[in-house]
Amino acid sequence: MVYINGEWIETNDKLEVKNPATNEIIQNVSTVGEQETAKAIESAKNAYKYWKKTTVDDRIKYLKKVSSLLNDISEDLAVLITKENGKPITDARMEVKDGIDFIDWYIEEARRVYGDVLPASHEEKQLLVLEEPVGVCAAITPWNFPLSMITRKIAPAIAAGCTVVLKPASATPLSAIKVFECFHEAGLPKGVVNLVIGSANKIGKTLTGSKDVRKLTFTGSTVVGRQLMRDSAETVKNVSMELGGHAPYIIFADADIDSAVEGVLGSKFSNSGQTCISTNRIFVEESATKEFSQKLTQKVKQLTVGDGLNEETNVGPLIDQNSMSKILNQIEDAEQKEGKIVSGGKKTEEDSGGYFLEPTIIENANDQMLIAQEETFGPVAPIFTFKTEEELVERANHDHYGLAGYCYTSDLSRGLRMMNQLEYGILGINDSSPTVIQAPFGGVKESGIGSEGGKYGIEEYLIEKFVSIQ
Ligand code: NAP
Repeated sequence: MVYINGEWIETNDKLEVKNPATNEIIQNVSTVGEQETAKAIESAKNAYKYWKKTTVDDRIKYLKKVSSLLNDISEDLAVLITKENGKPITDARMEVKDGIDFIDWYIEEARRVYGDVLPASHEEKQLLVLEEPVGVCAAITPWNFPLSMITRKIAPAIAAGCTVVLKPASATPLSAIKVFECFHEAGLPKGVVNLVIGSANKIGKTLTGSKDVRKLTFTGSTVVGRQLMRDSAETVKNVSMELGGHAPYIIFADADIDSAVEGVLGSKFSNSGQTCISTNRIFVEESATKEFSQKLTQKVKQLTVGDGLNEETNVGPLIDQNSMSKILNQIEDAEQKEGKIVSGGKKTEEDSGGYFLEPTIIENANDQMLIAQEETFGPVAPIFTFKTEEELVERANHDHYGLAGYCYTSDLSRGLRMMNQLEYGILGINDSSPTVIQAPFGGVKESGIGSEGGKYGIEEYLIEKFVSIQ
């Protein structure tokens, strides 16, 4: 079902939504193309005329209802996320909590949208800066966080007074439908939020080509983000881009190695490594490589791979066969270039039809390997060795990506040097999970433009209007 102008619409064109743990169809979902997307934009445009004039109290009232409705069904939502995305149920519960937290944050942040009064250069003038909603927003979200990426965009957008047309990933539209059911039940006025599911190309082109859409907010791969930016250039849209990453995870010999090992388990293997801020390259100072690798291997061999619905599962399936093929290719390439597989490296023996890969560790990784260049998006940990800090910084800073980076050291001065020299939008110093709701989440270089989260997230949906009064 899609949701346009306050109504649920069924169509004859269906999309099969499959469980990546079993490859079984969970549900067939209606899809739409250009025509219905244009209707959704029209509906958001009409709703905007009204919504932008509502008071902050009105907008908060609806958001509070949505938050409460999502809370009521939080366990069902977690199960649904696990079914359509594959992530372990504990991770799915965390995602639901984060998703609701974003709504709760923007309920409060909406009250802190101020303008400015500027000192005038003429005694008879008053200079004002007004913060206004940017207008109709198109939002496109990925499958790896099928719920929280939606609320991280829609909550600040509607809190700011914008209206939205959302296109979720085709692999995971069911969580999106549930969120929109809550919008509907909360009584949000028709057209304020609209949901379109279907061909990325057809929907994408309609959204980017429309002069009525004033902003595009996208989370996904850099390659698609780049295309969407090109397509948005014609109408000079405001764009926010949360794109791919290639996080270095740096361990100096003076670091607490046990803590670095614990950190990498979460940063590399949670969500099966399918997180934009997942560790992609582990750099260990030469003298600590052996100890780190042995300790990590011991822990990784204890991870339980399986259907995410089992409470004891640590690592669920990959999202699909394409992802499996890409990662197996990276592993094969690494082996050909003198990488040594010390754990995993293959599909599991599971015969469930799902896409399970053994958690993998590759020692002796080098910068010529595919895995050193491409985003992996899987539970594969390549260990690179470095000798000097200078060499490390050069290699850890990626040519293209700049989303997240991690560094472990017990030397405060070194930690501060890393803080200043690593070119990433998010840094964890002795911290493998730095992201929190109040902080800006966003990348530099080809990892993105703009930030989501905290006070920064709502600014993406506001524009300044300067007024001089005489
Ligand atoms: P993706 O292939 O770029 O897809 C993301 C979204 O874009 C999906 O809804 C997809 O629709 C849509 N899309 C694909 N091609 C399109 C086109 N030509 N026009 C309009 N929309 C299009 O990325 P993904 O594989 O789903 O997600 C993984 C990527 O997202 C990784 O690179 C990851 O690092 C990144 N990510 C970044 C962040 C961040 O905050 N920086 C967070 C999470 C994920 P379909 O599903 O219908 O193809």
